[in-house]
Amino acid sequence: MRFAIYSDVHSNLEALETVLADISRKKVDANICLGDIVGYGPDPNECVDRVLRDVQICIAGNHDHAALKRISLHNFNAYAKAAIEWTQGVLSKDSQERLGALGLTAEKEEALLVHATPRDPEKWSYILTMEHAAACFQDFTQRFCFVGHTHSPSIVTEEDGTQIRLQDTDEYQLTKNQRCLVNVGSVGQPRDRDSRTCYAIYDSAKRSVSLHRLPYDIQATQKKMKAQKQPEFNIRRLVDGR
Ligand code: ZN
Repeated sequence: MRFAIYSDVHSNLEALETVLADISRKKVDANICLGDIVGYGPDPNECVDRVLRDVQICIAGNHDHAALKRISLHNFNAYAKAAIEWTQGVLSKDSQERLGALGLTAEKEEALLVHATPRDPEKWSYILTMEHAAACFQDFTQRFCFVGHTHSPSIVTEEDGTQIRLQDTDEYQLTKNQRCLVNVGSVGQPRDRDSRTCYAIYDSAKRSVSLHRLPYDIQATQKKMKAQKQPEFNIRRLVDGR
């Protein structure tokens, strides 16, 4: 089966619609979302509704839990905190209930799906180094683990239980003795200095994964955020991709 896997929409409807239109052209069997549907952007309720309309599996991210007041905001920087407090004020009862029903991990066709890390997903740690990525292979038994959270796409492989490699490519097929940790990047707020929206396609029969980048109407999103008086930093970073 072929799955489109995306994460970190962050209430950015223009980026989400761009990704979903591209996914529909790719003819996948099902869509999977790895969380952080809300936070930062201007359209939280619309994004909850749009994601959950045709997603087969959706798990929760830290911003979803923060919007539901399930976790404290003391680990959030001032801009993220301001955006979450605004989101809490506009999130409908229906969106709250739907976000509240999402779990923290799921499994599908040889793949573990989680927002942050395979170990202790509720701690919301960030995989930012190759050492941490290498350690993560001890924490899942499946062939693939798909994560989001850092907003930086990457494909890391493990071979024969030891050799860890960052694959410098946007398309990769596993060989017999390999396993794979894939960061699918972010739909609504990329942070790898590339402002284009990002998602992944996982082919479970071929044991392959590909990363897809697309430009979207950033100015339309920024215009809404300006009208809502969102923090300038959150508006600006969409163009910078950071
Ligand atoms: Zn996020």
